[in-house]
Amino acid sequence: MTQLNDNPVVSNIPSYLNPAELGPWDIFLAQVERVLPYLGPLSVWVDTLRRPKRCLIVDVPIHRDDGSIEHFEGYRVQHNLSRGPGKGGIRFHPQVSLSEVMALAGWMTIKNAAIGLPYGGAKGGIRIDPKLYTTPELQRITRRYTSEIGLIIGPERDIPAPDVNTNEQVMAWIMDTYSVNTGTTRTGVVTGKPLALGGSLGRHDATGRGVYMMAREAMKRINLQMVGTRVAIQGFGNVGDAAARAFAEAQARVVAISEKDATIFNPEGIDPFTLGDHLQQGGALEDFPGVESISHETFWELDCEVLVPAALEGQIMIEEADKIQARLVVEGANGPTTPDADDILAEKGVVIVPDVLANAGGVTVSYFEWVQNASSFFWTESDIISRLDRALTDAFQTAWESAEAHAINLRTAVYEVACRRILEARSMRGLYP
Ligand code: NAD
Repeated sequence: MTQLNDNPVVSNIPSYLNPAELGPWDIFLAQVERVLPYLGPLSVWVDTLRRPKRCLIVDVPIHRDDGSIEHFEGYRVQHNLSRGPGKGGIRFHPQVSLSEVMALAGWMTIKNAAIGLPYGGAKGGIRIDPKLYTTPELQRITRRYTSEIGLIIGPERDIPAPDVNTNEQVMAWIMDTYSVNTGTTRTGVVTGKPLALGGSLGRHDATGRGVYMMAREAMKRINLQMVGTRVAIQGFGNVGDAAARAFAEAQARVVAISEKDATIFNPEGIDPFTLGDHLQQGGALEDFPGVESISHETFWELDCEVLVPAALEGQIMIEEADKIQARLVVEGANGPTTPDADDILAEKGVVIVPDVLANAGGVTVSYFEWVQNASSFFWTESDIISRLDRALTDAFQTAWESAEAHAINLRTAVYEVACRRILEARSMRGLYP
């Protein structure tokens, strides 16, 4: 029988994680393992990536509206701070776990380094189904959680942002709670804030817009025209919606949109702007005029050029990878493809723009927001979009060059670029004491 310690990945699992419940963290470790052969002498520092610097688990008790008391589990993980303060979103979801938050924090470390942002990687979350709570209850949960993680966050320490099921309002509550607790208005403690509280123009759509920009760069390399290209998108939330609108504006055809309860298809293209209005007015996805309802399974095998998973992690496994016909997968979501599925797609010649590049538009504009907050000087939207375009295009080019130089896929190439930057910083800083 294989001993746990015989496996180089398993032997590096922190003892507070049950090896049987590794989940997304296991995927992150496997991705780090794949880049090891390309790190040269820096590989002596690789354990710094296999172990989060700091994991904080907090109890979040609140009074419900009916006077009863309920407790929630909250997390903030700072995976690596070698290149700067922590940066990463906060999610509210019933499946939030330590393993998931650790992986999401690890991906933020890689993403920030891949884009060249002066941040480490962090992530947070509360295990909760927010649909089951009223707005005043969510406000109390957010404020208590902020107070609890206030020990380790701050504009120079760790700067949260929105993620799944959190939004500008939640960021405003976090900013207010932190400011009240520290006795000074600290807009820079979170990004993704409302404009009235020091938010940045362009932040709301930044991740989806970045997905489009990264797809555009990849399409140039594989000789795909944007006009008329068929795009299928899983998840029509913040990322999927903004990506769909950017693709439509560039005259690509969004032929399918898959949501939790329904998937719609129109080979001539779905207008994401009118679809957004339809949903906003309370219409069901499948009732949108002019579309055909198809099964979730059919979605993966659609005849299209570009596939954008923009829902949650772990969506493309072996079964889905076997079906995929697209030439390009652009990962709007974090961790949507398992390493096994990655291999299958590579064998089929499908190019994957990995999450750490594809959805980096959000954190890039978050960085712009933080810089604007620090200087109290605000930029125009066109300034922001052109700086975003330059940052993402440059990062894509660097990763593409690494992929060509080492004959590796784009994911391992981005990890190569990012891990070098992180481990060089680690090595230059040295160990204390
Ligand atoms: P969101 O909650 O706004 O949207 C997610 C959407 O996916 C929802 O509409 C949900 O109904 C749908 N969905 C969930 N499960 C599904 C399933 N099985 N099939 C089809 N649809 C499903 O969240 P978001 O902010 O758009 O984030 C989506 C992904 O992008 C997450 O992985 C998140 O970590 C990642 N991401 C978000 C940002 C950001 O700025 N919002 C930045 C980087 C990465």
